[in-house]
Amino acid sequence: MLPAIQTPYEPEVRYMERALELAELAAAEGEVPVGAVVVHKPTGAIIGEGYNRREAAKSPLSHAEILAIRQASRTLGGWRLLQSAIYVTLEPCPMCAGAILHARLDQVIFGTRDPKGGAVCSVEQMFELPYNWKPQVMEGMLQPACAAVLHLCGGAARLFPAAAAKKESGGLRCGKKVITCGNFRISPSPWRSVCRTCWRI
Ligand SMILES: [Zn+2]
Repeated sequence: MLPAIQTPYEPEVRYMERALELAELAAAEGEVPVGAVVVHKPTGAIIGEGYNRREAAKSPLSHAEILAIRQASRTLGGWRLLQSAIYVTLEPCPMCAGAILHARLDQVIFGTRDPKGGAVCSVEQMFELPYNWKPQVMEGMLQPACAAVLHLCGGAARLFPAAAAKKESGGLRCGKKVITCGNFRISPSPWRSVCRTCWRI
């Protein structure tokens, strides 16, 4: 009998992989690619997900973290997200860091820094200030992939306008993985590819 395949990295990484998938969905919709998930630690269940939807929602408030926190609050039936962690591909901005404090999230795990807008360690250190809540912070999980996903940014439309125009006009949705972007291959987990025809993963 063959030995069982061992997962060569800690299980928490799958939460960041899900956040990366959500970031790719944002890119496919022409948004700045940021994804977030909220995890209820006692059960290990993902209780909230979100990706940046500022353009679609026409709202500056529709950041990935805000949407994930909102969904998690509905899932748990309350605003206190105790014993929960948020995994987000990009360092949270001041608005989202504030929401994390208000939600009483235990842990913040982010992938890559945002030197111009990050409120955890880049522009300011909000969680070091004397607020009445202080989440644990971990940075750098899947950092290369979290940084690479931002290169889909400017939004897909700005990177590959012809393909985006085809999607706009209700064009093909082939669902095939036609290309593999070199940026999306991380070790040890092969990363996903984005179809240039339909902008689906
Ligand atoms: Zn934000």
